[in-house]
Amino acid sequence: MDPQSAIAQVKRAGLFRTQGLIGGKWMDAYDGKTFEVYNPATGEVLANVACMGKKEANDAIASAHAAFTSWSKLTTAERSKLMRKWYDLLIAHQTELGQLITLEQGKPVAEGYNEVLIGASCLEFFLEEVKHCYGDIIPQTQADRRMFVLKQPVGVVGAITPWNLPLAMALRKVSPAMACGCTVVIKPSELTPLSALAVAELALQAGIPPGVFNMVMGFAPEIGDAFLASPKVRAITFTGSTAVGKMLLAGAAQTVKKTSMELGGNAPSMIFDDADLEVTVKGLMIVKFFNCGQTCISPNRILVQEGIHDKFAAALTKAVQTLRVGHGFDEGVTQGPLINQAALHKIEALVEDAVSQGAKVLVGGKRHSLGLTFYEPTVLVDVTSDMLISSTEIFGPVLALQRFKTEEEAIHLANDSNAGLAGYIYTENLRRCWRVAEAIEFGIVGVNDGLIPAASAPFGGFKQSGLGREGSKYGLDDFLEIKYLCLGNMV
Ligand code: NAP
Repeated sequence: MDPQSAIAQVKRAGLFRTQGLIGGKWMDAYDGKTFEVYNPATGEVLANVACMGKKEANDAIASAHAAFTSWSKLTTAERSKLMRKWYDLLIAHQTELGQLITLEQGKPVAEGYNEVLIGASCLEFFLEEVKHCYGDIIPQTQADRRMFVLKQPVGVVGAITPWNLPLAMALRKVSPAMACGCTVVIKPSELTPLSALAVAELALQAGIPPGVFNMVMGFAPEIGDAFLASPKVRAITFTGSTAVGKMLLAGAAQTVKKTSMELGGNAPSMIFDDADLEVTVKGLMIVKFFNCGQTCISPNRILVQEGIHDKFAAALTKAVQTLRVGHGFDEGVTQGPLINQAALHKIEALVEDAVSQGAKVLVGGKRHSLGLTFYEPTVLVDVTSDMLISSTEIFGPVLALQRFKTEEEAIHLANDSNAGLAGYIYTENLRRCWRVAEAIEFGIVGVNDGLIPAASAPFGGFKQSGLGREGSKYGLDDFLEIKYLCLGNMV
């Protein structure tokens, strides 16, 4: 398949939307402005999308606020039924949605199809989970009192999502919020708004009432400021860089909103002498090269014990050499382009800095011959903690191997970061597995495994990787208020 045929197929399915969605209506920017969305694999313009700002964001907030009264009063069963229709439509359109993701984000189309399933699994999980979201009865403190805990939806939620998994990240945020009875205004990244807009179209087709799900995109700081300033927005849920997350946290203080923050990572993979080589290479390859290394849980610091180091580096290099870089629609491609020139320059600078300080390139280490933002899958050895590549989130297809001697040293190196999202351990020693898993300061720990997130499992970080958890039963908490209800003189 070529990009033009994919665009035609998405258009035929009615899923190629370029306007914002406010109060159930597709809208241009009020001043008619648009911005261009590119295919990173070809550099071609895919679409001109409404470039919205403060006014449109405020109207979307007003629509969400008006819709909250009726949406929050529906029973969970009624909301779940509508959301199940939405889920069915997502699955029915998996092909077009997966293609749209590849068009605007660049990942291999098999990963695009998989992303649709990841996003849909969040929707399915939360439309079921909310049916088990109980309150409490507290033993009374006086004989004539009855004491209860009610859980109620927080209100309008402002959601801001990144470009790396543009469909899945949007659904991961709106699913728990809407299942609880909240209404949402979501702002996707200007780099990849099209797949989120297609999700919005399917929400309308599923019969989600006008105003419950709104989408605006364009001037990020204006839209973000509108969310922060409005007392009607009661929660902000953000996935993106730590720098923007900190700004939003500070801004949310103006009106004391609930906040949930999924921010940057700097994941260590700790490979001990007693690791199973095959399991380790397989686990690392899956999670590192998923989405071309552009995920927050991507292993960033590959810490390898000295006894296994050389054998492991050789096996890893061999595996990396089997990867195929190319356009996402081409047969057999396992790695697409980086999202943009800024990402490419950042990775070039990190590799250059490491090499200038003594790191060696075993494979890759440069731009790919395809040009644009394609970068060769890379393995570096002799990396040290003081190199920029160890303290920066690489967000690209580079494996940076650093040696260690003892378990204590590995734990110290792993925890020597402000980030605390994902960490990985490879060992066949059960006691070591427990010791290390308990000692490392990360919200998500994988042992002898690669791509571990699931809708049913909590996802989120320690330290500066964020606040709150997405997915799992805990994922509802950020969208609920707890109300203590005390009935006096009852008997
Ligand atoms: P980003 O630059 O922070 O952008 C994320 C979102 O924030 C985009 O929608 C962006 O809009 C918006 N934004 C930017 N400036 C803003 C402002 N002043 N006010 C309001 N919104 C603003 O991050 P990114 O480069 O897209 O994503 C990569 C980062 O996300 C990495 O650090 C990665 O680790 C992190 N991430 C974390 C998780 C997690 O679950 N912890 C998951 C995925 C990614 P525009 O794009 O339109 O400018």
